[in-house]
Amino acid sequence: MTHTDSPGARSAPWVVLKFGGSSVSSRTRWDTIGGLVAKRKSEGFRVLVVVSAVSGVTNALVALSAPGGDIAQRREQAAALETRHRTFAQELGLDPETVIGDLIAQLHALVDDPRAAVSALDWQADVLALGELFSSRLGSAYLSANGLDLRWSDARAFLRAQVLPNQSDWAARLSVNCRLQPEPGFHERFAAQGDTLITQGFICADDDGRTAILGRGGSDTSAACFGALLGAQRVETWTDVPGMFSANPRQVPQARLLTRLDYEEAQEIASTGAKVLHPRCISPCREARVPLWIRDTSRPDFEGTVIGPRLADAAPGVKAISTKRGIVLVSMDGIGMWQQVGFLADVFERFKRHGLSVDLIGSSEANVTVSLDPSDNLVTTDVLERLAADLSEVCRVKVIAPCAAITLVGRGMRSLLHKLSDVLAEFGRERVHLISQSSNDLNLTFVVDEAVAEGMLPRLHELLIHAQAMPVEETAVFGPSWQELERGAAPLPSPWWAQRRQVLMQQAGQGTPCYVYDLPTVREKARGLRRIGALDRRFYAIKANPHPQILRTLEAEGFGFECVSAGEIEHVFNSLPGLDPTRVLFTPSFAARSEYEAALAHDVWVTLDSVYPLRHWPELFAGRDLWLRLDPGYGRGHHEKVRTGGSGAKFGLPLAALEDFAQEARRVGARIFGLHAHLGSGILDASHWRDVFGRLAAAAESLGTISALNLGGGLGVPAERGADPFDLDALAHTLAEAKALCPQYSLWMEPGRYLVADAGVLLLRVTQVIDKGGVLRVGVDGGMNTLLRPALYNARHEVFNLSRLDEGDAISCDVVGPICETGDVLARRRRLPETFEGDVLLVDTTGAYGAVMASAYNLRGLPAEAVLE
Ligand code: ADP
Ligand code: ASP
Ligand code: MG
Repeated sequence: MTHTDSPGARSAPWVVLKFGGSSVSSRTRWDTIGGLVAKRKSEGFRVLVVVSAVSGVTNALVALSAPGGDIAQRREQAAALETRHRTFAQELGLDPETVIGDLIAQLHALVDDPRAAVSALDWQADVLALGELFSSRLGSAYLSANGLDLRWSDARAFLRAQVLPNQSDWAARLSVNCRLQPEPGFHERFAAQGDTLITQGFICADDDGRTAILGRGGSDTSAACFGALLGAQRVETWTDVPGMFSANPRQVPQARLLTRLDYEEAQEIASTGAKVLHPRCISPCREARVPLWIRDTSRPDFEGTVIGPRLADAAPGVKAISTKRGIVLVSMDGIGMWQQVGFLADVFERFKRHGLSVDLIGSSEANVTVSLDPSDNLVTTDVLERLAADLSEVCRVKVIAPCAAITLVGRGMRSLLHKLSDVLAEFGRERVHLISQSSNDLNLTFVVDEAVAEGMLPRLHELLIHAQAMPVEETAVFGPSWQELERGAAPLPSPWWAQRRQVLMQQAGQGTPCYVYDLPTVREKARGLRRIGALDRRFYAIKANPHPQILRTLEAEGFGFECVSAGEIEHVFNSLPGLDPTRVLFTPSFAARSEYEAALAHDVWVTLDSVYPLRHWPELFAGRDLWLRLDPGYGRGHHEKVRTGGSGAKFGLPLAALEDFAQEARRVGARIFGLHAHLGSGILDASHWRDVFGRLAAAAESLGTISALNLGGGLGVPAERGADPFDLDALAHTLAEAKALCPQYSLWMEPGRYLVADAGVLLLRVTQVIDKGGVLRVGVDGGMNTLLRPALYNARHEVFNLSRLDEGDAISCDVVGPICETGDVLARRRRLPETFEGDVLLVDTTGAYGAVMASAYNLRGLPAEAVLE
């Protein structure tokens, strides 16, 4: 028994390795576990392996032990569990009978155990414990058979449930905390088992030796408690993602790996819903000062998240956005609560009586609303009804469920409020039941209907990055995105300009600032849109980039043109002489009468967006087919200034005024031929246009004269090349569905930025590089006068040093222009190779709203433009 008796091993520090369900569900994973244990041993550690049940087994055990189940069904469920474990034993090359025969017998005995009826909680705990007993037994036998000298240990001999005041009977058995003070003799007893052990997560024992359960997902907490009791070097939780991310990566592929977190932040992220760590697992580690690692069993060499003490120089910023589903809100209207003594005490006493823990609280003079932590007993028992009945003695009660809490987590939340305006606006579009800000300044929570929460996450995450509230440039904290990691080593598709770098350098030699457009990219985008079969006609919104060669390219691809001024109309006909006027749409905003006259003289399609022109210039429109732009009451997009719907925006006729408009049109003798809506830009979620379609089709039905619907544009262009492109297939699919519902309408769209943004880059030359007070600024010869989007919309554009494309990033800097304005910053906190005066910088994705928005401010010259065929 050398492994227990060697004095060297006795004094070696412990590491605790915890493996979750998917990490223990296949033979390959167990080989990884074996390899990791051997590695930690070779590094001089004693190793404790803590395992979860095999994937899905705890769910099956929960179903089997549900109160009120019938015995025949339970027998079937037990038989399925038996088969599952026997098959897995065979996959591991083990004899099921020898390794788990006794546990299988226990499983069947528990099905017939009379305690199910009389002492349900004790019985449930014993049933639930079986999952981890099975997996640890199988793992122990497999690893031993493969040459690892490791012992199986029963967690219930070492982890003790802690009795807490006011705990419900349910929590005291099925959702327990563990004591962190070792019992007398603990260390000796534990060490006597050996220096390489495997035990169960999720289970412990109470002082009477009965099995108790740590709650769903509680294996993390078992590992943390062992880590604390043993004063381990660290606890490593091995799971199916390579760390904690800035959002659940399965819902938000753009979520970034958080490489370093402090205990408090991790606690907040875990307790607000990030399932990757059980909320109760942080505090044992924090109290015992044991670092907690999160690692991915399928990528054992990848360094994931390290959770430890707070770093002194931690800057404020949102680290993560999490959601918790299954939230129940209890809204209580006091009867004359203002200054009523003891109302809250009366109310909360009742929550205590039912063992329910309150999470968030919002209160006003007449109402107190609280949220309850989701827990199994809320669903599986009638505790809510009993609570509501009790509460109705002192107030009027309303239970609002199911809700979801969406939480922004990060240090210094209160100092970030000015950066959250877009995020708040996003919530403003939904029904928010409760907002709460934690007193530790670490979180801001919004409770909304459960149905809308998940869909909001990718958008909110994007807005947080966009507004620089989530400082993803901090490379000490933010690692790669989930999407980048999933793509693995596969190289990112290289942008067109990387292949044409020499040409671009020559172009820069002829003068900067200079925009360069790549026509093959414009064609590629146009062809993508042409493949959307449900669209009958496509227009290009020329305001994005009216360069004549771009117009010619798109004309050849069958596009029409959407113009917003008489000047744009003239420009289109000058650039494309002989163009059929029905390929031109005129959709102005607050234009003068003369512009409408000019458009009508060209015989192009004219769109009105208020009743004013009909009322004041009726003679212009008599006998005409017109388009009407509607405002369905909300806008969309990446920034307030690009949202073109809703009462805050100047565009569109409100739906409520539709009848008035229709009457005026009849009076004037004009026909409303088509309905149009364009609600904003930078929209990445294809379902938006289906929604627009639905609203336009409903309005069209009420009018009866409509032949065509124009769904606008706004197709998003991700700011980063590595991000997922706009999903054209999803758009095609959703439009096909919409079209099938109302095939009578011709369907039109009019994207602008989408067609040209990726096709353009801006070349700038470095003028000066200055370090001022620790902030490094790279000056370039074009700023907000050349590219306005960053100053106007906070738009993010990637910046590359084209002169040093092959050199690694070495500096973190702001890229600033020469304009005498503080806002003249093109990019903040960017990583670049070491950069010098004379280098050429490339600002990416600037084919739209670049040159056309440039100004002569400060009497600086306008940028040049060049086109590559
Ligand atoms: P295990 O079985 O290994 O304990 P869990 O399923 O309990 O694994 O936790 C890992 C899962 O947590 C991930 O697969 C992911 O879907 C989810 N998750 C939720 N939020 C986050 C987040 N912010 N970061 C990482 N994973 C998260
Ligand atoms: N097996 C338990 C569960 O599924 C504990 C865990 O996996 O952490 O909840
Ligand atoms: Mg888990």
